[in-house]
Amino acid sequence: MIDNIVLLGSTGSIGTQTLDVCEKHNIRPLALSGNSNVKLLEQQARKFKPDTVCIADGTLYGDLKQRLADTDVTVTAGRDALCELAARECDTVVNAIVGFAGLYPTVAALTAGRTLALANKESLVAGGDLVTGLAREKGKIIPIDSEHSAIFQCLMGNEDNKIKKILLTVSGGPFYGYTYDRLKKVTVEDALRHPTWSMGRKITIDSATLMNKGLELIEAVRLFDVTPRQIEVVVHRQSILHSAVEYEDGSVIGQMGVADMRIPIQFALTYPKRYETPTKGLSLFEVGTLTFEQADDSVFLCLAAAKRAVAAGGTACAAINGANEAATGLFLEGKLPFYRIGELVRDTLDNVGYDSTTTLDTIEAADTAAREYVITHA
Ligand code: NAD
Ligand code: MG
Repeated sequence: MIDNIVLLGSTGSIGTQTLDVCEKHNIRPLALSGNSNVKLLEQQARKFKPDTVCIADGTLYGDLKQRLADTDVTVTAGRDALCELAARECDTVVNAIVGFAGLYPTVAALTAGRTLALANKESLVAGGDLVTGLAREKGKIIPIDSEHSAIFQCLMGNEDNKIKKILLTVSGGPFYGYTYDRLKKVTVEDALRHPTWSMGRKITIDSATLMNKGLELIEAVRLFDVTPRQIEVVVHRQSILHSAVEYEDGSVIGQMGVADMRIPIQFALTYPKRYETPTKGLSLFEVGTLTFEQADDSVFLCLAAAKRAVAAGGTACAAINGANEAATGLFLEGKLPFYRIGELVRDTLDNVGYDSTTTLDTIEAADTAAREYVITHA
């Protein structure tokens, strides 16, 4: 069992569930970080007693510093301070930040040779070869995303066996079965109502557009070194089979469990060991039926764009990721209809040039150009 972690994004959905796991197994968070929720960050600092707390939004530094004035906690702020924490000596760095902002700490943690428990899929998607290269040569990534944790578990003990296919499951989200026309009428409230998982706002919208599955397809290509064609997206409404791997002999090994992120979060921290979790066990009798269907990427344009972007390589995935973040932000602010998210992601891929090399500079340029494209065409 590990002794300590650095937890980035501690105030979010994954962050707070990671703290639940820490509490249960006496894992010490040496440092915590958030972006805007100073009140929760203060509460977490008082309860878990990290030595450092970082607020990414520098304008809130004074507020947080004052709140923690009577404690020994060191307060830092801004991106460089966040990266300093990511690089810090510890058993595992957990990156539970949402969005492109997670790229910088991912790069910092891997460069410093850390073990990185990764929830922030955007950093792997946008970072491409830059991040996979660092993971190969310096640090190590253990996935937190439930599907990738499932695949990671299905690969255990099979290091010398070739993967024939990865079956990447998807619940289908709240708009499963919708026609394109019907998507034109959905509201923010409808999109925030996910049928099986409770998550942060951005990933909940990504799950409604199926961009989340597009990002995860790219994430799987990067983590498990398979081609996009080796990945089959399977709609599985019950969210019980979290993904599976098919081997050359026709055996399909899958991982099942209830839809509770504390299971994959904990496994990323305790791998290869398994310990008790506070989750309800799986009753197959209660679930009764498991169903499997094809995903319709003629309706869910983000999924189709993700497949094209990963095949294009270079910074194309950074471009669609940036476009999606910008379009999703506009949708959540009520400034863009839901169906336009997919169209803008697709159009960004078609109209914003991308670079075949992936450095921090080319990745940032692709991200910025994509966001600008979305803002001017929304
Ligand atoms: P969330 O919105 O609930 O939390 C995000 C965290 O990131 C917060 O602590 C916030 O303060 C911090 N943050 C936001 N903007 C930041 C910035 N610019 N700089 C630094 N920190 C910033 O999100 P979440 O649902 O916990 O998701 C986190 C990541 O995990 C995402 O990449 C998501 O795709 C992935 N993920 C989440 C779930 C889930 O169940 N929530 C499941 C699988 C994967
Ligand atoms: Mg997932």
